[in-house]
Amino acid sequence: MISQFTVSTRSRTAMEDVTPQVERIVRDSQIKDGICYIYIPHTTAAVTINEGADPNVKWDILMELDKLVPLKDGYHHMEGNSDAHIKASLIGPSETLFINDGRLVLGTWQAIYLCEFDGPRRRRVMIKIIGS
Ligand code: ZN
Repeated sequence: MISQFTVSTRSRTAMEDVTPQVERIVRDSQIKDGICYIYIPHTTAAVTINEGADPNVKWDILMELDKLVPLKDGYHHMEGNSDAHIKASLIGPSETLFINDGRLVLGTWQAIYLCEFDGPRRRRVMIKIIGS
């Protein structure tokens, strides 16, 4: 079974902490030991794991991605959002986490972020939990 939830982003680029939603799905699965696979079925959004304590970290990540991949750079894609497609591929559409004792294994400072690169939009986050 695949579980999913949606996130409504409010700006063109954003990193939304989705750790509580993923933890709830893991808890509801009642799987004690296994794997949690997170997948983003979009071409201009992604998922990553990084610091959840200091919000400046996510702002720095978004700021540097803007420098690496400018909004306008003579792109061929006519939709005008090539920067968002490139950023989504750089960050990637999936993450895999361990489940131990019924809980996600995350470092003290780690959080799971949906990365929005062409918002505001309504995004889906898909979760597959496999018990071992
Ligand atoms: Zn496009």
